[in-house]
Amino acid sequence: NTYGGANGSKIPGITFDDIGGQDSAKNELLEALRFVRDKEMVKGLGIRPLKGIMLSGPPGTGKTLMAKATARYIDSVFISTSGSEFIEMYAGVGAKRVRELFKKAKDQAKKANKSNAVIFIDEIEILGGKRGQNSGHLEYDQTLNQLLVELDGMSIDDDINVLVIGATNRIDILDSAILRPGRFDRVVKVDLPDKEGRNKILNIHTRNKPLASDVDLEKIARETFRFSGAHLESLANEAAIMAMREDSDMIKGKHFKEAIDKVMMGEKLNRRPKE
Ligand code: ATP
Repeated sequence: NTYGGANGSKIPGITFDDIGGQDSAKNELLEALRFVRDKEMVKGLGIRPLKGIMLSGPPGTGKTLMAKATARYIDSVFISTSGSEFIEMYAGVGAKRVRELFKKAKDQAKKANKSNAVIFIDEIEILGGKRGQNSGHLEYDQTLNQLLVELDGMSIDDDINVLVIGATNRIDILDSAILRPGRFDRVVKVDLPDKEGRNKILNIHTRNKPLASDVDLEKIARETFRFSGAHLESLANEAAIMAMREDSDMIKGKHFKEAIDKVMMGEKLNRRPKE
């Protein structure tokens, strides 16, 4: 988590090519980003500016990667935070942090000489949960209200365009106010990868690894049903560790086999009925 941290505002090196599969999510995202890239046309046609995008889907499927690739694609500074950062015991602190977050985004864009800033809020359901349902926690309500105030206050004529990207795996518990037109009105579903997606992700994460000729990534993709991108990244790393353990300078098919078992055991992927 980089809110306030040293990396908080770096322009990420991730591009959409570093994200395997997720074609429909990428396409939807790129289509939405046209509204940011063609700002003059949006203005000319009087279209409501794009303020928020919600990425919805299970953990480890590339939502953070997509937010980073977006920042690069629209030549923007990138500020990353998580819903959990806003929850405090004292009333008003969460709301104050939200105000500071938007100010920080604009300041950093100015400093970097950019006209766009991306604010990424992971686990946004923690601050954007349904209001009045947190057993009387007024604090949550004030924090969410402040986020809505910031979104509603943004205009196409602002010097700095702020795009807020939220990520959640619990879209069902979000307050409906947050998804209303003019706020996070684009919802992009990011699902677990299918077989082709898994193959592409495996290719990405073995790009810089020496694979023996018996390694068949397509076959591994078939055998890793329900693995997320994060699981596949971990699989490629574990396979390399298995090779090192055997003093092998190539990663072989059997190392992947052992690594699959290890990742499955770790995550109990074989036993959990449904994500
Ligand atoms: P969370 O909900 O847990 O925050 P997330 O959806 O934001 O998860 P990421 O942080 O983007 O997931 O992914 C974690 C790691 O998994 C990435 O850094 C990357 O190594 C790998 N990964 C996930 N999805 C993909 C993908 N589609 N292509 C390539 N790598 C991926």
